[in-house]
Amino acid sequence: MNTHIPKVGIVSLGCAKALVDSERILTRLRAEGYEISGSYDGANVVIVNTCGFLDSARAESLEAIGEAMAENGRVIVTGCLGIDEAAIRKHHPGVLAVTGPHAYEAVVSAVHQALPPLHDPYQALVPPEGLRLTPRHYAYLKISEGCNHRCSFCIIPSIRGDLASRPAAEVLEEAERLAEAGVKELLVISQDTGAYGLDLRHAESAFHGRPVKARIPELAAALGELGVWVRMHYVYPYPHVDELIPLMAAGRILPYLDIPFQHASPAVLRAMKRPADHERVLERITRWRAQVPDLTLRSTFIVGFPGETEADFEFLLQWLEEAQLDRVGCFKYENVAGAAANALGDHVEDEVKEERHARFMEAARQVADARMQAKVGRTLAVLIDEVDEEGAIGRSMADSPEVDGSVYLNGETDLEPGDIVMATIENAEDYDLWGSVAG
Ligand code: SF4
Repeated sequence: MNTHIPKVGIVSLGCAKALVDSERILTRLRAEGYEISGSYDGANVVIVNTCGFLDSARAESLEAIGEAMAENGRVIVTGCLGIDEAAIRKHHPGVLAVTGPHAYEAVVSAVHQALPPLHDPYQALVPPEGLRLTPRHYAYLKISEGCNHRCSFCIIPSIRGDLASRPAAEVLEEAERLAEAGVKELLVISQDTGAYGLDLRHAESAFHGRPVKARIPELAAALGELGVWVRMHYVYPYPHVDELIPLMAAGRILPYLDIPFQHASPAVLRAMKRPADHERVLERITRWRAQVPDLTLRSTFIVGFPGETEADFEFLLQWLEEAQLDRVGCFKYENVAGAAANALGDHVEDEVKEERHARFMEAARQVADARMQAKVGRTLAVLIDEVDEEGAIGRSMADSPEVDGSVYLNGETDLEPGDIVMATIENAEDYDLWGSVAG
């Protein structure tokens, strides 16, 4: 255990935003018991928060790193120039770590590695993976906040703002801490997972010295190396989402995609101001399933949107039949205070919404049930969620916690939450399966 008070120096270059970043880093380190040193020789490690906006700022940043290396020798680089790790390492190969802008977690964990904090009984009450409200064996991994779209029924952008993604290294460090703490399944979430990193211009950040782009296929591939189940939620089907399919085929991430389609009729989608039209989605689903036959598709829909005609609704039912979605949630449209859709004409009568909701859910149930019956006789991996005196309850790769079905393994009382077992499926009903551990 470290008994000397660890001291950190900082050189802060660039704009006011960079200065605020430096303040946040220092605030966090000070709260962990680090002292802040005003000189190079009083510091055990020096953070250089760089600017990379103009050529002159880059040159100044490289010079500042050189000075810190010469005066102290133990240097962690962060800030805007951090996205060009190769240039930094070319000039200063001895720097301890390089992280990009707004990567507080990554800088702080680089400091922890270079200079462990003092043991603090209060800090020690908080495990390294943070405090979580989910069971020990699964965790939600939030990769961004906000959204750049302006769907007419949604007020999230006005509450949370535009898309703000976390650097890939920060996400991966959190994921690694969770996996080390015993998490077996990571659920990747955001408002718009497919758009991840757009706001960062897909900048690279270094995870264990390897650059990883802030882009969903690259992030998913890196998460897939942690040896845990990785499940993707809220993935709008932008073209590059096709790049996730080979990762599923290779078993790197779960063969599961939660895509919020919301509707299928082009007229309703236009009124909803959804990000893109769905013309080629059915074709793409067919292609995805050819590559990954076990692909599970989950989606949510809104029925009774203002202006939805019977023909639009029939189109949706037909589309659902063709898409053969495995899991479906459906909401009856309601006005939300502040949403643009409130002002649209032709609001649908409540009883019509009720009736369409019931028809839609019955159609979805029939599709799902047929797909579930096809699993009887197969042997599937099951992650155990809970065990009681009657047996174990878990989930297959096709089931996300809380929203999808369960796999009941009656009599299997010796299992523990977090175990992954192979089970032979004997029975299926609606969204649930029953089976026993394969001998
Ligand atoms: S519905 Fe989703 S994609 Fe549309 S604005 Fe809201 S958060 Fe963004």
